Amino acid sequence: MTKWLSQRALQLKPSATLAISAKEKELKSKGIDVIGFGAGEPDFPTPAHIREAAKQSIERGETFYTPVGGTPELKKAIVHRISQDYQLSYEPEEILVSCGAKHSLYNIFQAILDPGDEVLVFAPFWVSYPEMIALSGGVPVLIPSQEKDFFLPDGARVEAAITRRTKAMIINSPSNPTGILYPQETLHQLAGLAEKHDLLVISDEIYDKLIYDDAKFRPFPSIPGMKDRSILVNGVSKTYAMTGFRIGYLATTNRLIVKAATDLQSQSTSNPSNPAQAASIEALQGPQNEVEVMRKIFEQRRNLMFNLINETDGLSALKPQGAFYAFVNVSALAGKNGITDSGDVAKYLLERHHVACVPGGPFGSNEHIRLSFATSEEKISEGMARIQKACRDLK
Ligand code: PMP
Ligand code: GLU
Repeated sequence: MTKWLSQRALQLKPSATLAISAKEKELKSKGIDVIGFGAGEPDFPTPAHIREAAKQSIERGETFYTPVGGTPELKKAIVHRISQDYQLSYEPEEILVSCGAKHSLYNIFQAILDPGDEVLVFAPFWVSYPEMIALSGGVPVLIPSQEKDFFLPDGARVEAAITRRTKAMIINSPSNPTGILYPQETLHQLAGLAEKHDLLVISDEIYDKLIYDDAKFRPFPSIPGMKDRSILVNGVSKTYAMTGFRIGYLATTNRLIVKAATDLQSQSTSNPSNPAQAASIEALQGPQNEVEVMRKIFEQRRNLMFNLINETDGLSALKPQGAFYAFVNVSALAGKNGITDSGDVAKYLLERHHVACVPGGPFGSNEHIRLSFATSEEKISEGMARIQKACRDLK
């Protein structure tokens, strides 16, 4: 009986990435040897000094509420990290700490959108953006891109999608799911449009420390003129292998947005977990060498997976420049064994060959599947061997 449910709840789609991770765990718990390319989380243990900081915080009795928007020490640590890494200066009052970057984004959309307000979302996009925008009463305006253009948004197409209801655009570079890093030229082009049409820019920079080869990351607010119209979103989940701690943050010079989002948080989750905040201070202020160790390992895994994908008949992918995902074109498999789209490919791989991946549909492309390389080289080799056999078996 759905009569008790709100329209909002009825229309909501659950997170496809988390659904696949849950399915993967369920099959493993039944003793099925599944290779998991679904989960978008680092498989490394959280560095020891960070775990120790969490323990010490509990021992010190930091087991009570903190200020809603995060402890002053954590806000200072965030401000310091951003300034050290990117020479971008924020004040602690311009930071809001939330329960993961996902929660930061949720708070932002709730704080800025009225019913019918439009947000530009560049496809392929992370599964949660359209849903979070819709939950706020807003309208996600999906702007397609071409694989031959490295999935970069095309300026003319973006401008054509802007209406008087457009309030913001969301940028995610390096991108989940494509691993593509926006070049300076694209950032400048988007900045020009934001300026011309007076738009807010939400920049989800959660993968800023996972950049490969000699690619260079630049935070969006550092583009001249953009600091005051951007909201930077980041967190400790990916950089420090801390997904379960649930700490993310936003930074913006627009203090009214910080206040509105903080007030929202005060009526929903209160503060983020107290010991998790202590652990995050250590992550941001302590030694950073393990970040580079993990990044290098991810790069090797990327190389391995990318080579294996491109030597497989029926598969192709662009080389990811960041994050830990390969967005694999599976359109050549359509029409074989009743396969019509990426959902069928993902189902076939999981049920028949015990490899979990996320279908591309929820990311805005039915011709792709997303493979995460946040797993060991051994598992990548085994999983890719299974996928290669799966492709050979299709007639
Ligand atoms: N943005 C993107 C693009 C992501 O892939 C994730 C991963 N969950 C997040 C935000 C949120 O991360 P978290 O809530 O763990 O900080
Ligand atoms: N962001 C990761 C992913 O895309 C983790 C799951 C989620 O929050 O979506 O797989």
